[in-house]
Order: sequence, then C-alpha cells, then structure tokens
Amino acid sequence: MALRLYRVDPFLRRFSARVTALATIDGRPAVALDQTAFYPTSGGQAFDRGALNGIDVVDVIERDDGEIMHILAQPAQFAVGETLDGEIDWPRRFDHMQQHTGQHVLSAAFVRVAGLDTLSVHMGDEACTLDLPTPRLDPALIERVEDAANQAIYDDLPVIAREVTEAELSGIPLRKPPAVSGLIRIVEVQGLDWSACGGTHVASTGQIGMIRVYKAEKRGNETRVYFHCGRRALLDYRQAGAVVAALADGFRVSRRELPEAVERLRAEAHAARKALTEAQEKLAELEATALLQNARAAAGDASPIVIARVFTDRDAAQLKVIAKRLTAEPGVVALLGAPGEKASLCFARSKDAAGDMGKLLRDALATLGAKGGGSADFAQGGGAPASADQVRQAVDRARIGVQGDPSGNTPPIGS
Ligand SMILES: [Zn+2]
Repeated sequence: MALRLYRVDPFLRRFSARVTALATIDGRPAVALDQTAFYPTSGGQAFDRGALNGIDVVDVIERDDGEIMHILAQPAQFAVGETLDGEIDWPRRFDHMQQHTGQHVLSAAFVRVAGLDTLSVHMGDEACTLDLPTPRLDPALIERVEDAANQAIYDDLPVIAREVTEAELSGIPLRKPPAVSGLIRIVEVQGLDWSACGGTHVASTGQIGMIRVYKAEKRGNETRVYFHCGRRALLDYRQAGAVVAALADGFRVSRRELPEAVERLRAEAHAARKALTEAQEKLAELEATALLQNARAAAGDASPIVIARVFTDRDAAQLKVIAKRLTAEPGVVALLGAPGEKASLCFARSKDAAGDMGKLLRDALATLGAKGGGSADFAQGGGAPASADQVRQAVDRARIGVQGDPSGNTPPIGS
C-alpha cells in the first residue's frame, strides 16, 4: 500500500517512488507506487494532476482496498520495481488546498454565527458548495458568516493535522462525528475547528487568502451556499470587476449608479415597446379600413366580400389585428398571410358569413408544413419558413375554397 506523502507534507511537489503494480483501468494505463504525493479523489476533494517520468497523470483513484492508482494519459514502458520521478500540478493542488481549508473555516463560521451545521460538501473545479439545514438564509446573516470566516484568515491561525486514537477523540470538540474508525486524522484550525479529514490543507488560514460566498440557493428544506476561496475569489472578483467596468463605461455612469441606469433603460425599453405596439395596431386598423373600402368597391354585390392578401412586413400579431378589424364588419372573409422564417396565416370571417376558417387554415398550413388551428370564425397558425410565393398559393387555395372561383387571384404582395 502506498505511503501517502501528501499527508506527511501537503507542500511536497516532487518525489521519487518505486512502481509496485501496473494495471489497466477502464481501458487506460494505471500505475501503483510504494509512496505518492498524488491525492486521489476522496472526502469531497478532487484528485491531483501532474506527471510521472514526464507522462501526464490524468486521474488518481483510490481503490476499495485502499490502493492508489495513477491513471496515465498514454501507455508507458514502466516496469515493476522501477523508480519514477513524480511531479504534482501545483497550482491545481494549491487551489484545492485553499478551497478545502476555506471550507472547514466557512463551515465552522456557519456553526458559530448562524448555528447551522454543514450537511454535505462539494468541491468542484468550477464551484464549491455547502448544504445547510435551512430553507432560508438572510443575506445579512450570510455577510456576518462571511466576515467571521475572513476574520479567521486575518488571524492567520495555524492548521494542524494529526492522527488520534478513538479513545483520544472524546477530548476533541469535533464539528461532526467521524465516518471512519481506528486511527483518525484530525485537521485542526487552531482554536476554531476540529474535523476528521483526510484532505490536504494549507499551513495556516492566512494562505486561504479570502473566503467569498457568492450565491445561496434554496433546495427544498435546505440551502446550498456557493463559495470561492483564495485565487478563485480573486479571479472571480477580477472578472466581475471587468464586467461592471464595461457596463459603467457603456452607460457613462459610475459603478454605483449602474443599477439605476439599468433600471432606467429597462423602463425606457418597456415604454418604447408599448408605444410601438400601439402604433402598429393603429396602423393595422387604418390598413384594414382602406382594404375594406377597396374590397367593397371591387366586390359590387358579391357576398361575402373576400379579402385575400399577403403582407411581407407584418407579423402574426399584426395579421390578427387586421383580420379582427376587417371581420368586425358584416359579410367579410379575411384570408391573410405573411411569409418569412416563421410564416404566418390568419383566416377569419364575420359572424354572419359562411365557411369553416379552422378547416381552411389546416388545409392551407398543410401545404406549408406548418401548424395551427382555431374555430369556424377565426383561425391562426404558421411557424415554418415559407416564401412569399408559397404563402400566396396557400392563401389563394383558401380563397378558392370560399369563392369556388379559380379565375380570380390573390392580389400581389402589399402592405
Ligand atoms: Zn475536510
């Protein structure tokens, strides 16, 4: 079984070790060593990367029997008994140490300030989280916890790991009862926290740099708290600062004035959208009135008056307004279409006119491969791409369905 050098010295970056076994795990070459500084995924902390004799170590697994297997990026001509040079990817490992010790400190702060035990921990490459037994966490309380955790960093408390027997455990104020028995490794943040933990930790809390809670999310009866420690917190602050600076620059306001500027823009956009919709509706009404006058003049005594029309610059909502306006008058059938990426058809009739608009529409849409439906007096649909010609043919088909007259044709595209 490999001697776990990372437990003896978590700051060890280079080491030599003899190969004790070679294996293939999930099709990938793997090596066991007589001692290793590589940390295997366990206890919420992710595995180390690095290299053995220059070959990348892409995963480190602790087998059920306790053996540590180093998974290699490519096959290597290692022999059992051969001595290898190991090197740990130090920035990655130190990041894990900052997050892990930071997690212990943050969990202790949640107990001390908020009386909340940590139920579970996740430390990923992107996000680190704690799950807490409360459905609600007041932002002001989170800030107090964050302050207490960072005070422990300013105090630069020593972090000490040692192994104790079960008998010695009773004298240690553990935050959580240990999940293992026999010799138990205790990680103490001096005077603040005692945890049974096999992970790698910084030497004193000052090396955590900073602890920042950046999100709290309700999950049933629990709250998941997201946090960054150390350099991750710096990178996040740097990125957030760049975003805020770019926005403030764009709005030509100071950072403090940003929320107000965004709110102002949102209100303006809302008002503009509303005014545009109202104007478009008015325009559609005027358009409908003109269409109706022309159609009446052209239709003579014919009944109903059928208005078949294809618009290239109207959307589905505007077609509906025009159709509703046209069919508010008695004796009118409106067969309207608009081509585009999401072509649209809108068929409507006055209450006193004959015809099943729903059926006409379904037939017309079938020719366009689009979907929609409605009642006998109003139907609308579309959604599939169609050219002006395709829409005109579909509308014309419906017109013939109403008039039974193949000789007329749908007027050219108008607006
Ligand atoms: Zn731990």
